[in-house]
Amino acid sequence: MNLKKYIPVYIILIITTFLFLYSIETETYRSDTVTEIELSKHVYYLASDKLEGRRAGTEGAFKAAQYIANEFIAYGLLPYPDADHISHWEDYLQPFEFGAGVEMGKNNKLTGNIENDEFNYLEGKDFRTLPFSSSDTVSGAILFAGFGISAKEENYDDYDGVSLEGKIALIFQGSPDIQDPHGILNRFATPRYKTIAAREAGAKALIIISQPGDEETQLMRLGTDRNPATSGLPVINITTQVADKLLENSGYTSSSLYNKLLESRSPNSFNLYTIQASIQTDLHPITAICNNVIGYLPGSHPDKKNEVVVIGAHFDHLGWGGQGSMAPNEEAIHYGADDNASGTAGLLELAQKFAAHGTKPDRSMLFIAFGAEEIGLIGSNYYVENPYIPNEQTTAMINLDMIGRLRNQELVIFGVGSSPVWESLMESVPEHENFEIRTNPDGLGPSDHASFYRKNIPVLFFHTGLHGDYHRPSDTADQINYEGMKQIVDYVYHIASSLSTYDDVIAFTRTDSTRPTGTMRGVRVYVGTMPDLVGESGGMGVTDVRKDSPADKAGIRAGDIIIKFGDKSIENVYDYTYALSDFNPGDIITVVVLRDNEELELELELGTRQ
Ligand SMILES: [Zn+2]
Repeated sequence: MNLKKYIPVYIILIITTFLFLYSIETETYRSDTVTEIELSKHVYYLASDKLEGRRAGTEGAFKAAQYIANEFIAYGLLPYPDADHISHWEDYLQPFEFGAGVEMGKNNKLTGNIENDEFNYLEGKDFRTLPFSSSDTVSGAILFAGFGISAKEENYDDYDGVSLEGKIALIFQGSPDIQDPHGILNRFATPRYKTIAAREAGAKALIIISQPGDEETQLMRLGTDRNPATSGLPVINITTQVADKLLENSGYTSSSLYNKLLESRSPNSFNLYTIQASIQTDLHPITAICNNVIGYLPGSHPDKKNEVVVIGAHFDHLGWGGQGSMAPNEEAIHYGADDNASGTAGLLELAQKFAAHGTKPDRSMLFIAFGAEEIGLIGSNYYVENPYIPNEQTTAMINLDMIGRLRNQELVIFGVGSSPVWESLMESVPEHENFEIRTNPDGLGPSDHASFYRKNIPVLFFHTGLHGDYHRPSDTADQINYEGMKQIVDYVYHIASSLSTYDDVIAFTRTDSTRPTGTMRGVRVYVGTMPDLVGESGGMGVTDVRKDSPADKAGIRAGDIIIKFGDKSIENVYDYTYALSDFNPGDIITVVVLRDNEELELELELGTRQ
């Protein structure tokens, strides 16, 4: 037999076999039940490089929305309640606008003269208009005012004894304490704070000189400031080269003046009489479009079908970092596999299973993938203000946010105080036994269920706890516990089924906690612990410790409960946050933790919060 003759046939056979196997591979992973393979396919796609972290308003978020909508179509969901057939993917979107920062206009100018010598500087090279600047044109004389700090309570005031009325203030970035991490004046050093101080002192504009160094200075890199509120004053940042020119007749260079201020640590403010300057700033607020993706499954019961059970999960994340990131200076894709590709994958699997089930649920169901959660629950707020089915007919809302890191079978459920039926309903589901369930009554909290709770809708929020990769580029798809996710999604499926058929009203109860809301404002130190958000007293539980962080070096471990931090007793996460604000980077303190019911004293050197 001459093999040669058969080669083309073999090749065709091989190719068709591959095509056949390929088609098996791509089709058979789809299943009407909840499977690990489908969950992981969804997470790997949503948390891929291609989607670039899905920040609200970006192309990546749009691709994610399209993907989710096409899945809803594949399951046979309807785009909205009175639709009678499945539809084009765009019909599954509920678009909304949100403030997405500012954009530089064409007319940003810094011009003027020093005696008869004219200057005209370039935006982007010599100076930069700061994102919170107002858009305006002003001219006037310049007053140099040190660091622009007015801290009378600390006996330091760069505006003391000089008149700024009608003038432009010229100041340095930073503070006289810049080289001392414990320096009390550092907390007055933010550009926003300085702008308010200059405005109060009567300035009509503010110029901030970049910190002088050995090399050519850079313009300040400020993340896009999403807060559309301007500071009410034109504010620009200039290089030290431009500052040298402005200081020409003062007898100083920018670095000699800067060093003098640091050495003396006392104000040295003076008028630059020979200069007339004109500043024009031009910024445009930009709005962006983001989407909720909604799929509807009609109920089958004659009365109950007018009511709806909402299952939701946000699909947006932090894009390339910046605002919201725990590593704000790291420009890298924040994949958000756990936060919240995991919940989105769970949502898709639930939608698929409910839609495929032989008998339709009694109550109708809405599956909502929310956009713009990370920047303030914007998508879910938009939905409850523009609901597809009136909020009064919304039986309950189930939220999945970060369900991909099940550890020791510990599942956290928030919102159990929002209805008296929750505890018994949750326990009536046999899958309950698979978990170490920890509950918290709060219906508020930092995810989309809070928007529904505010509209008096009972909520349940499923979550597997914070970890060291939270809001960092390292929250990747390979770190997800898919087996644990499947268990959680199966459990939620049975709870949602019971909800859909439940014979009585799911009553709403308000359980507003009186706890103060924790805020990191004013905290300058970095520890590297991830707090356990469930515990309410008896210390602050640590769910994870960031590798090589101060906490890690001190020997704090996941599972420890911090009961004392320095001289402060810690009852809960709020005490802890409060205690943090009392310390400075570099402080060495004793931390007392409970580990296996024993008290351990650990020495901790506090790091700097970025
Ligand atoms: Zn998040």
